[in-house]
Amino acid sequence: MKQVVLTGIKKMELVDVKTPVLQSQNDVKIKLAAIGVCGSDIHYYSVGKIGSQVVKYPFPVGHECSGTIEAVGKDVTNVKVGDLVVIDPAVYCGVCDQCLAGRPHTCRNGKFLGCPGQLDGCLGEYIVMPDFTCFPVTGKLNPAQAALIEPLSIGVYAVNVAENISKSTSVAIFGAGPIGLSILFKLLADGIKNIGIVEPLEYRLEKTKEIGATYFINPEKESVEEVVKQKEEYLLDVVFEASGEQDAVNNALKILKPGGKLVLVGIPPSAEYTFNMDLMRRKELSVVNVRRQNHCVKEAIELVVSGKIDIEKMVTHNFTLEETAAAFDMVEGYKDGAIKAMINL
Ligand SMILES: [Zn+2]
Ligand SMILES: [Zn+2]
Repeated sequence: MKQVVLTGIKKMELVDVKTPVLQSQNDVKIKLAAIGVCGSDIHYYSVGKIGSQVVKYPFPVGHECSGTIEAVGKDVTNVKVGDLVVIDPAVYCGVCDQCLAGRPHTCRNGKFLGCPGQLDGCLGEYIVMPDFTCFPVTGKLNPAQAALIEPLSIGVYAVNVAENISKSTSVAIFGAGPIGLSILFKLLADGIKNIGIVEPLEYRLEKTKEIGATYFINPEKESVEEVVKQKEEYLLDVVFEASGEQDAVNNALKILKPGGKLVLVGIPPSAEYTFNMDLMRRKELSVVNVRRQNHCVKEAIELVVSGKIDIEKMVTHNFTLEETAAAFDMVEGYKDGAIKAMINL
């Protein structure tokens, strides 16, 4: 089968590899239909690693995907041949303390699609996955919508772990990439009306306007603190950080009200943030970390199936598998108004 592999920094190649086969009676073989290019794929593409996860070449990345079931093991009951499925890229063990505590997303033995040293990514024609990672959506979602359930589920989870968000909650999101947009979609679906967006790229601010955010701040042109103070005298209840930038964290602490909550979703390039402890302590701010998602795939699917979220609004470009290198180059360089590029097979 055809597969796209990273072969060096900002280098990728289309190669012929053996088509994967079922390894157990609980496995399914999936013919891929749509694959989203994610910011984390771009980290591996442009610097060859994320924190301690280092790519060994050649390596296929990719984890946001949907496809059609081609073969199933004898013990598979949740999907059948011909089903279009959403694929959750996290494969958990089901028996460790974390899994037993209802936290499969922090499984001690967890393996993730397209993560170096764990599982090969989905940038190819076929993958084999355990059945529990597949959610059938035939006749409900198209392949692109189904592939976008993965980033959306992270937005859904981020809002759910923030807890106690109600219609009167004042919120801001730093970063209007696919994850920031996923958080925005979920907040709007929940009826939250007061959502500020902080984002230096004008075309991304425009996108959040089109989707329905309330006010817009370009941190390179205006003071985030000043604008928020004008909008919200008592400052904000919750801030979602989806940019991975230290500046965003600094600003977030300034615009949160006493007792406010900072939800960290973005991945900082250096693996470290500093926090102004004077502000943190005086305002008694809480910080919540988001690790991918936990049990939010079904909710994300329902939000799209019901029409509450038009997830394809985040798609700006479409490519074929052969054009994957061009897709990565575009997303990496924020070229041509890129937000989410899809690879369609
Ligand atoms: Zn992703
Ligand atoms: Zn586990």
